[in-house]
Amino acid sequence: MERQLLRRSLTAKQAGLTLAIALLLSILAGIVELALDARAMQREVQDDTRHRLDLVHGTAAEAAFQLNPELATQVVEGLFYGGAVAHVSLRDDFGRSMAERQRETDKASSRVAHALFGDILDYHQTLYYQADANASPQPVGELSLSLALDSLAHDFSQRGLLIFSLGVVKALAIAALLAVAFHWFVTRPLLKVHAAIADTDPSRPGLWPKPAMDRHANDELGHLVESVDRLLQAFQHGLDQRDQLQQISTMDGLTGIANRRHFDAFLSREWQRAQRGGHAISVIFIDIDHFKEFNDHYGHVAGDDTLRAIAKALARVVHRASDLVARYGGEEFVCVLPETDLSGAQRVAARIHQEIRALEIPHVHSTRSGRVTASLGVASSDPARDEDGYEALLAEADHQLYRAKRQGRDRVVTQT
Ligand code: GH3
Ligand code: MG
Ligand code: MG
Repeated sequence: MERQLLRRSLTAKQAGLTLAIALLLSILAGIVELALDARAMQREVQDDTRHRLDLVHGTAAEAAFQLNPELATQVVEGLFYGGAVAHVSLRDDFGRSMAERQRETDKASSRVAHALFGDILDYHQTLYYQADANASPQPVGELSLSLALDSLAHDFSQRGLLIFSLGVVKALAIAALLAVAFHWFVTRPLLKVHAAIADTDPSRPGLWPKPAMDRHANDELGHLVESVDRLLQAFQHGLDQRDQLQQISTMDGLTGIANRRHFDAFLSREWQRAQRGGHAISVIFIDIDHFKEFNDHYGHVAGDDTLRAIAKALARVVHRASDLVARYGGEEFVCVLPETDLSGAQRVAARIHQEIRALEIPHVHSTRSGRVTASLGVASSDPARDEDGYEALLAEADHQLYRAKRQGRDRVVTQT
């Protein structure tokens, strides 16, 4: 639909503009051509009429000399039917009419016709006759001819119509050719670029289907595509940086799992969701036992490795997409389990406890087991009924963790 509009508007605008300009130019050219044609027609008409009068001069003079009315009539008739003639007369030396023809003409000819042909309508030729070879030619009469203005005007208007018709046809042909060329060289590639931009996934602008501009590589269209490409790649770079920053800001640098900031936002959001949905939400606090001693004995590097291994173990157990496992700080971790009640959370905590033990990381100063262990506190709440908020849930889980420590560590203690 959008493409249709673009195609229609650009090509139509260009074609309309070209047609208007071509028509204007052809009208101006037609006026000039018509003016030149009028002058040429004036000369043609004058030359033709004089030529015809010259042709009959001898016969007309003879008719006047001999006072021969039949011959005079023949001359007059010949001239009268030869063209656009309104009046012909042949007079003798005394001004008496020997033969005459006249036709009714349309007096209502336009002012333009008068201006163009008014001066070349009437012709008078004095007839000279040479009686014998030694005598000089003597005037014997006069031949007069008037052209019909309406007939000349009609001829001229026919010629004008032809000139203007040809001009309009030329204008139409030029406009059509230019419209096709414009569509082919401008609108079509533009539509290609437009379609590629429209098909671009806004979340991944760098992967836009950049159109190949084979024949436009070095012109404005090619430059346009390159500019759009540079812009979209810069856009993509910005999005990548944003994603990286987002990841860094929500991820714990040491273990790669969610950090405290992400945990806070997640718990707040899930608490509200549980409130609306009327379902339970549980939290598990995990704290590594005697970790200070571990660091003191095995060193910080080994301590960091252990934190990473435990984070991995937690992620293995808490793998539901809706759950979250985060590093709460130091050697403490926390799990949020939406839509999970206390018994479900207890089962997850037991699996975590077991998974950490199963790592079998040696710890000589640990509990009796001689390996790294953890204490876990589990609490659950029904946010729709609990008015104390998620802080109370956290405090409860922390309290259960404290109880686990008090009871000798390496265990899961659940809210009663
Ligand atoms: P408890 O069994 O009561 O939890 O004893 P604990 O020693 O684990 O607890 P305490 O809070 O006394 O000590 C926590 C120790 O965790 C202190 C510090 O050496 C260690 N720790 C905290 N963060 C890191 C860390 O990022 N890397 C390493 N290697 N150790 C850390
Ligand atoms: Mg601690
Ligand atoms: Mg500890």
